Amino acid sequence: MSIKENLQNIKSKLPNHVCLVAVSKTKPIEALEEAYHAGQRVFGENYVQELVDKVQHLPKDIEWHFIGHLQSNKVKYIAPFVTLIHGVDSFSLLKEINKQALKQNKIIDCLLQLYIAKEETKFGLTFEEVEQLLVSEDYGNMKNVSIKGFMAMASNTDNETQIEKEFLSVLNFSKKMIPYIPNPVLSYGMSGDYTLAIKCGSNMIRVGSSIFGVRNYTK
Ligand SMILES: *Cc1c(COP(=O)(O)O)cnc(C)c1O
Repeated sequence: MSIKENLQNIKSKLPNHVCLVAVSKTKPIEALEEAYHAGQRVFGENYVQELVDKVQHLPKDIEWHFIGHLQSNKVKYIAPFVTLIHGVDSFSLLKEINKQALKQNKIIDCLLQLYIAKEETKFGLTFEEVEQLLVSEDYGNMKNVSIKGFMAMASNTDNETQIEKEFLSVLNFSKKMIPYIPNPVLSYGMSGDYTLAIKCGSNMIRVGSSIFGVRNYTK
């Protein structure tokens, strides 16, 4: 199946309110162009240098989402063009994004990454930390970032009940946070679990291998 067919296939199954982020990390420019020509405009990348390189070679009307783990010292490279930063997992990172956004005279939209998986390897904030952040005066004083919602990754398991439980915990938490974030963006669901994620309230899915094929990290 071609990239175009994969995209059509996925999109035909998506409710209108769900945004599809095409995750193109490790994939060559030509693959992104193919998706672009098939109508895809929202792309997600994980690595700053790779993203910066790709942006130069691709059309200007693409919305670039940064979905990887972002180091504070690299925010400045993506601040000029990034549309949404998904994985904000610390107050200090948010502060740096605010600083770089101010320099660019813009407001950068962000999602806070929630830690919901059982694995130790996944980054993110706890529900308590997020709540503290949202009510804090420090966040209130940040004029150049806007927290639009939450991003999460479920445990890497075949146990659908477990995954469902984790996704629903984000949905329920987002409902509690409605006074602070009225219409939250909920970014969860990848190639293996996006159908379940949408059932559990996701309105933004990040899909890579089901569009572009399996990734080869050894190249
Ligand atoms: C790579 C990646 C994805 C896409 O994963 P697939 O299983 O290829 O769909 C989604 N979200 C994040 C944060 C990723 O790093």
